[in-house]
This record gives sequence, C-alpha cells and structure tokens, in this order.
Amino acid sequence: MKPSIIFLSCFFLLVYVINPSFGQEVKFPWPEGKKMALSLSFDDARASNPTHGIPLLNEVGIRATFFVIPQSVRNNLKGWQQAVESGHEMANHSIIHPCSGNFVWSRNKALENYTLDKMREELLQANFEIENLLGVTPTVYAYPCGQMYVGSGQHAQSLIPLISELFVAGRGWLAEAPVDPLYADMAQLTGIEMDNKTFEQIKAYIDQASQSGQWLVLAGHETNDSGRQTTYLETLRQLAAYVNDPENGIWVAPIGEIADYVQATRMAMADTVNMPQLVRPTKDGKLHLTAENGRGVGPRIEYMPDWRAFGWFTGKDRVEWEVDAPQIGTYQAVMEWSVSDKESGKGFVFESSKDSIRGQVERSGSWETFKTLSIGKLMLNGGYNKLVFRPEDDFGAEGALLDLKQVTLIPVY
Ligand SMILES: [Zn+2]
Repeated sequence: MKPSIIFLSCFFLLVYVINPSFGQEVKFPWPEGKKMALSLSFDDARASNPTHGIPLLNEVGIRATFFVIPQSVRNNLKGWQQAVESGHEMANHSIIHPCSGNFVWSRNKALENYTLDKMREELLQANFEIENLLGVTPTVYAYPCGQMYVGSGQHAQSLIPLISELFVAGRGWLAEAPVDPLYADMAQLTGIEMDNKTFEQIKAYIDQASQSGQWLVLAGHETNDSGRQTTYLETLRQLAAYVNDPENGIWVAPIGEIADYVQATRMAMADTVNMPQLVRPTKDGKLHLTAENGRGVGPRIEYMPDWRAFGWFTGKDRVEWEVDAPQIGTYQAVMEWSVSDKESGKGFVFESSKDSIRGQVERSGSWETFKTLSIGKLMLNGGYNKLVFRPEDDFGAEGALLDLKQVTLIPVY
C-alpha cells in the first residue's frame, strides 16, 4: 500500500469516527462541573476492612462501597456497624458467594446448578440479613467472581434482568474500561481491579476516565500493607491525596449514590440526546421511532436538540432505525414532521427489507409547526428489522426534505 493511500484510509477512518451523524457529541454533566466520577468498592467483607481499610478511608474522608457477605459481617459486627455510621455503603454480594464450578472450591455451590428463582430467594435473604445486622437495605450488587449467569449450555440464563429488577446497579469484575455514564447498562457496571496495584497503575485508569468524562469503579478485597487479593494501604493513601485535590475534578462517592445520580440525569437528558439504540415495543405493541433513537447517516443530517428532530439538508441524508418488532405483520406508520411551504412536496421513502412506503412531504405550515399524519402501512419481520427514511430522489446539496420528529408504528397485523 502506498503511503498516500495509508494516509487517506486513516483520514476516512477518522471522519467516520467523528462524523456527528453517528451520534450527537454529548458530554455527561457531573455535579459541580467535575471531570469524572470515582467509586471505591471492596468485596466479601474481608477481616482487614474494618480494622485497617475503613479507619484509613475515614481519615482521608472517602466513603466507599462494601459488598458484604452476612456471615462475614458477623465476625466483626461492631466494626461493620461503625462503618455504616461513618457513611460507607453496605451492598449485596449474595449469601454464599456462588461462582462457576470451574473453580473447584465452588463446585458445591456452582452457578451451573442454580436456577433464577433460587438466586432471587438468596439475594432477598442476603438483603434481609444485612438489614437485620446493619440497619441498611442494599441497593447495589456485585456479582460473585463477576459471573452473570446461572445454568449451563442450553439451560444457561442471564442474571442481569434479575439484578436490574432488584437493584439500582450491579457491578462486575476484572473489566478493562470505566463506565460510560451515557450508555452503560447499570446492571453491568464494569469493575476494575485495584488489588496489588501501585497508585501509578491505578492513575492510568483515572486519567482514562477523566479524559472521557467517565465513571471509574475500582474493586478490591483485603485492605492491608501486603498479601494476596489486597488493596495496599499506601496505594489508598496516595489515591486519596490525588482525588481529594480539587484541581483534579473528581467526584468520589459510593456506587449507589453515583448510580442514582446517573439514572436521574439520564432521564432528564433523554428527550434531548441522540443516542441510536434498538427500538423495543411498548406494552401495546407500538414502536416509537424517534429522532433520539435513530441514526442519522449522510453528509449533513443533524439531530437538533432544540426541536427534538432530525434536520435534512442534502439529498444523500437518511435516518436508520433498528427495531425489535413484536411480530411479523403490517404496521400503520404515523409521521410527525415540519417543513416550510417552500421546501415541501419532495418525495420520501420509508422502507423495511420487506416493504416500503412512498409519499410526498405535505405542508405543515412552517419549520416551527409540527404535524402528525398517517403515511401508510408497512410490513415488518417479527424480531429484528432495519428501517430507513430517505428522500426518494437526490435533490442535491441545496434545500431540505423535512424536519422529522418521529414515526410511530402501530400494529394492525
Ligand atoms: Zn467476592
């Protein structure tokens, strides 16, 4: 390959990555203009937590999340009660810590031999015991060994829907990247190991999260000067000095607090952020293809948060949606749009792989006036479909097709 071609390939790759039509560039607003969020978490209610780790965290003013096993809490009940009084979060890590039977030590409590109802019962039991021992109800969970399933092979089932139902958030283990607050599934927060690491090693993750405005969730076990599965006290001291420096713009809080903030902020932003994602049916089987969940593709198509609509500016622009249709059949398509009288009347196509609707963009009155009208019927496959809305003819780079707010698909079968 000639150098010029390599350069061109890189150039196109860059354009592809930063092209705004692949999602609006949005910055997640952390409180007080902070650059990132950080949670420290420790699993299993290890003996060195109340004796060494928690006193140090109290001294440096950091509140952490402890994923405790009720039986281990009983070994130092007073110490754990003091941890609650100091403001640390007590969270669920199951009753007996089941992991894959591939670990020989876990073979008599193997996740492969669990069912979802047995897991549900044990998680509620763990919450009940923690409430009795410590007076607080856990709202977050850490998957023991980071494993998110029960059963095996054709009988394997995901634990994620259960965790999503019972808790605000669920944390994994041994992940590679921090949590993206705009996108991440709260039931699958990535947990990055902080055991047996120097502060310099952990700082690499902090820098990564800070640059991209993410939430770093660190996960450890024992808290001591040395030993296996141990977060070093010296690392914690250096980490605290760094994160407590206001210059570094880091919001440090337990997982539950940050998860609540992320959920509430996402909800408040949902109406004005373009985040292409699979459209699932509502309870009545309707599919809402909005400007927020569609993907603008083309040279100049743009999501306009002020109008909550896509604006078309060239004949090569289009919007694509991925949908999960409740069943194969016919759907009535109802469009909400605006257009100036001058630009109205151009042909549009709305198509699935099976069918298409062709029509002309009718007058709405003005760019500021949105109108809602049925545009016809469209056949969909049951399950996955890709739908495209585009101009019928390439009208060039001058003019506009319409501003499209949404298309609702109503099953008529
Ligand atoms: Zn554990």
